[in-house]
Amino acid sequence: MLSSIFLSVIANISILCTVSYVFVKLIPKEKNYTLSLKKKLGMIGIASITSFILMLFSVTLPEEAILDFRQIILILLVYYFGPSVSIPTAFLIAALRLLLGINPASIHTAFVYVLLGLLLPYVSSKLTKRFNNYAVLSGLNVVCVAAISLNLYFLYDDILLSILICFSLLILSSIVVIAVTAFIEDLIKNLHLYLEEQEHAQMDYLTGLYNMRAFNKKWKMIQADKSITKTAFMILDIDHFKWINDNYGHANGNFILRQLAVILNVGAPDHELIYRVGGEEFCLILNHLSYEEQKEVAENIRVSVAGKEFLLENGAGINITVSIGLAASSQQKDMKKLFRLADRCLYMAKDQGRNQVIGATLESE
Ligand code: GH3
Ligand code: MG
Ligand code: MG
Repeated sequence: MLSSIFLSVIANISILCTVSYVFVKLIPKEKNYTLSLKKKLGMIGIASITSFILMLFSVTLPEEAILDFRQIILILLVYYFGPSVSIPTAFLIAALRLLLGINPASIHTAFVYVLLGLLLPYVSSKLTKRFNNYAVLSGLNVVCVAAISLNLYFLYDDILLSILICFSLLILSSIVVIAVTAFIEDLIKNLHLYLEEQEHAQMDYLTGLYNMRAFNKKWKMIQADKSITKTAFMILDIDHFKWINDNYGHANGNFILRQLAVILNVGAPDHELIYRVGGEEFCLILNHLSYEEQKEVAENIRVSVAGKEFLLENGAGINITVSIGLAASSQQKDMKKLFRLADRCLYMAKDQGRNQVIGATLESE
């Protein structure tokens, strides 16, 4: 008897850990995500099947009642994924219990799980305001164990037996809840670290703009987006920046780069599409604009830079100018061609005296 309980507990723990790992893997690897309907349905399916497997590894009690840790699946869903995932799962767990045989025990249990499905999201929202995740999940487990024990009391009409089962289940399941929560929290912490690293890897630490790596990633998305047909690269290069560095020092050069980033943020139609692609070279992607509008954006930025007094670290002000090469396309989204054309335009702008915008379209090439 003891060895079969021990085996059931071990099997339940292994299944719970495996499914927790799958749950965390289903969380999208991006910040501020909302779960898609497909992923929600996936979670509900996996959770229901897992709870059924847990039932197969349960401890059998008199009157065909069974005991396992299936309530932990439900409380994990309530806490980590909310009622839109947990309520349908609770109904499915109830239905699957009936699949194992229709008898007073299974009917009572099915009823208990429907009730828990509706009650737990409310309890969770109340507890979450006051306690940490370990305490909330343990609290939800206490509610479940109380409901299961009450159910057994009605079934057996034996208070001593119900209390004995209640305490054994409470102690064992509380240990498992804490262990599984620690496991999930560790997985989530790693996921957050990964997201942070990924974000840092795409940022330019000096200006706070995106870097070339982010540019490449974004461009692939733009290429795949059929709604974007008109697009352009605007490459901006500071005029005589080496002279500025040589005369005012590298730190002042950096200070000017940061101030220029602010002007670009104001002048760009989409500040998510500004990239520092070289030391003092920036690239803006301009989507959905006509060629005339693209040139207007470039010209406005050039005028803003020329008209602004840039600060040095000692409080003095200097003026700088920029040259801009604009390469537009209304059909092709070929990165190499656009970069080459924008570079050529930039070179012409430098050659023709700097502080100007020169543009061309790929189609007129
Ligand atoms: P042009 O008008 O032809 O563009 O002249 P330029 O001096 O700006 O061009 P060049 O490419 O010869 O020089 C770019 C300079 O930018 C060289 C380097 O000292 C400076 N630079 C590159 N990266 C950084 C940076 O991160 N910080 C600072 N302060 N300077 C940088
Ligand atoms: Mg340069
Ligand atoms: Mg330059």
